[in-house]
Amino acid sequence: MAIYDIIIIGAGASGLFCAASFTKKIKGLLLEKNQSPAAKLLLSGSGQCNLTHRGDIRDFASRYGDNGSRIRPILYRLSNQALMDYFQKNGIPLITREDGKVFPKSLSAPQIADFLLARSRENGFSLKTGAPALEIRYAASSRLYTVIHPGGTEQAKHLVIACGGASYPQTGSDGSILPVLSHLAQDQGKKLEIVPQRPALTPVFVQDYPYGSLSGLSFPQIRATLRIKGEEGRPKREIQASGSLLLTHRGFSGPVILDHSRYVSSGDELSINYLPGLFPLDMQQKLKALLSGNHKQAQTALCQYLNHEGSFFHTEFSRRFTELLCLRCGIDPRAKAASLSGGQLRRFIDLITQDVFRISGTGGFQWAMATAGGVALSQISVKTMECLDFPGLYMIGEILDVDGDTGGYNLQFAFSSAFTASAGIKL
Ligand SMILES: Cc1cc2nc3c(=O)[nH]c(=O)nc-3n(C[C@H](O)[C@H](O)[C@H](O)COP(=O)(O)OP(=O)(O)OC[C@H]3O[C@@H](n4cnc5c(N)ncnc54)[C@H](O)[C@@H]3O)c2cc1C
Repeated sequence: MAIYDIIIIGAGASGLFCAASFTKKIKGLLLEKNQSPAAKLLLSGSGQCNLTHRGDIRDFASRYGDNGSRIRPILYRLSNQALMDYFQKNGIPLITREDGKVFPKSLSAPQIADFLLARSRENGFSLKTGAPALEIRYAASSRLYTVIHPGGTEQAKHLVIACGGASYPQTGSDGSILPVLSHLAQDQGKKLEIVPQRPALTPVFVQDYPYGSLSGLSFPQIRATLRIKGEEGRPKREIQASGSLLLTHRGFSGPVILDHSRYVSSGDELSINYLPGLFPLDMQQKLKALLSGNHKQAQTALCQYLNHEGSFFHTEFSRRFTELLCLRCGIDPRAKAASLSGGQLRRFIDLITQDVFRISGTGGFQWAMATAGGVALSQISVKTMECLDFPGLYMIGEILDVDGDTGGYNLQFAFSSAFTASAGIKL
């Protein structure tokens, strides 16, 4: 049986980048469960591949939730700037959108996947597809890893696990490698700490969601407050975030919700302020003055007020949104604006500034664009990505307990960790 220098399990974003990053010729194998590589990379950024974000790499750590500071050395090893330079030097021009997201100029994820695969082959890696790793063994005497897949058995001196998380399982990354790794650890009389996987970057569902009929309405700048109830081992805490919100048929989405879904559990509370930056008392005074002697319908006058303060509603949507708000706080939308009582106005302002919901769940792995949880960071060296208790075994990408915000942070981590491993493997 041929012995490879390196086997990489998973030919996704991190696996391909790792194989592509070696600076010398290697006898390598990419082992991929699917019939073709890079399924998720091809879907990324709606097929356009938002491969990183502009800005200072020092600010990146805050975009990976509670684990951000621990992965700083990995992000610094291949920064966003270094990643952009790498692609540009290799004939892939990039563009940066106004919101800071970086894409290939071609807006083509296949261009990135094709380039990485071609570079991997140049580096000496062959690709076996339709080959899910079902079992991994390690022989301390020979220091070789053996990987068993339905088509045969492979051996290597170094093994890189690049199997992704568990979100969008139809792309091949479904978490099924975790029991294989736990079995390997057991076999060696060791323990591999795995943080239970949870969907991240997913819509959030709430009890009695009132906005199903307004699906598609978005707000460029709201403030969301998440109150974690502090049960089941999770500390009680409050998290605030600002950004854009999207109403869907079934629940809340948009960056501000997706980015914080990693923290969410059923029973937590979500409070939305649609007009952050305005003080309720000022609003009350302004509305009072605006409505006094106003012969318009309540819905029309209140809608005009919201448009004036927020100036972001699509007209038709804004009318329906205001109508819903009126009904929810006991105002007849067709009543005369001047007839609204102080109490009704207060309830309306309350709803605008703190629309509170009990969370009933999230979109689940089928909808999640990332996975929180996975192999605990305590198990690896952040200098090399090698497992501390398993010499020659490396973990990269979303298999690890790292999940980033929307905007290119997940691919940046996949690439940075892949690069760190390729530099860390001593052949
Ligand atoms: C719809 C969608 C859009 C996204 N868009 C963006 C974006 O624009 N920007 C961004 O930064 N992030 C984006 N992400 C997230 C990003 O794609 C992932 O974080 C990234 O692909 C993770 O890379 P990875 O190599 O760890 O895993 P993956 O890319 O998922 O690759 C893992 C590979 O391992 C294979 N595999 C799994 N188990 C086995 C096994 N037992 N044996 C052999 N092979 C196995 C899988 O088939 C897969 O090919 C998006 C995610 C989704 C779902």
